[in-house]
Amino acid sequence: MSAEPAGRIKFDLVSIFPAMVQASLADGVVGRAIGRGIVDVAVHDLRDFTTDRHRVVDDMPFGGGPGMVMKPEPFFAAVERIRETRGAPGTVVLTSPDGERFSHRHAERLSGLGHVVFLCGRYEGVDERVREFLAVEALSVGDYVLSGGELPALVMLDAVARLVPGVVGDEESVARDSFMRGLLDYPQYTRPATFQGHEVPAVLLSGHHAAIAKWRRREALARTAARRPDLLESVTLDEDDQALLDEIRKGEK
Ligand code: SAH
Repeated sequence: MSAEPAGRIKFDLVSIFPAMVQASLADGVVGRAIGRGIVDVAVHDLRDFTTDRHRVVDDMPFGGGPGMVMKPEPFFAAVERIRETRGAPGTVVLTSPDGERFSHRHAERLSGLGHVVFLCGRYEGVDERVREFLAVEALSVGDYVLSGGELPALVMLDAVARLVPGVVGDEESVARDSFMRGLLDYPQYTRPATFQGHEVPAVLLSGHHAAIAKWRRREALARTAARRPDLLESVTLDEDDQALLDEIRKGEK
């Protein structure tokens, strides 16, 4: 719709509910990055790409069955328009529960592409030719079915945008986030130091930076081992980490 100033990453979302998408991009980290021109988002109303008087985007499924299926033509026309007005995208993502499960790994790859288009389905889903001949990839946000692709597209956009330098004010906070280093984040505390009798770990109040760093690293390793042991299989640990992990595992026995 509107031409945003060119940012470091560009997103296009195609949806029958552009207002819903716009509303959730107004606030927060991503909203601020849009305001500062680092992230450039254009939201396209799928109905603008219909050619009939009633702006119909769905039709009955061939072969029968319940519900309605989204027609291919408006999606093809929307992506064509995006190519003309916004440039060739790095990828075109169809949101779909049967796509690859979106993870930090996908977020990293997409953040490096510079321009990502998300296609949001509704109803029973989208004519298969969109997936086969228009989308570059199909991504799912998890093994459950939502009523539309808008929330999945927004989830993915947010995760991708956070990885673009300058979007999150404090680079260090992104670097520390869960999954960034292959581990979960360490536990965080703020004031008061005692709340309903529960105390903050004493080391955090000690002012001893090396001890705090070690405690945090140990907690990150311990949580990952306890909650997501699968993550440890693909992370490279240095000697100190390995020693901490051995200690943690011994403590468990
Ligand atoms: N009949 C389809 C579900 C359609 S849900 C099926 O069983 O697979 C309608 C739309 O919501 C989909 O086209 C897709 O765009 C979106 N959607 C629903 N769940 C999703 C998920 N887990 N991940 C990504 N997109 C999803």
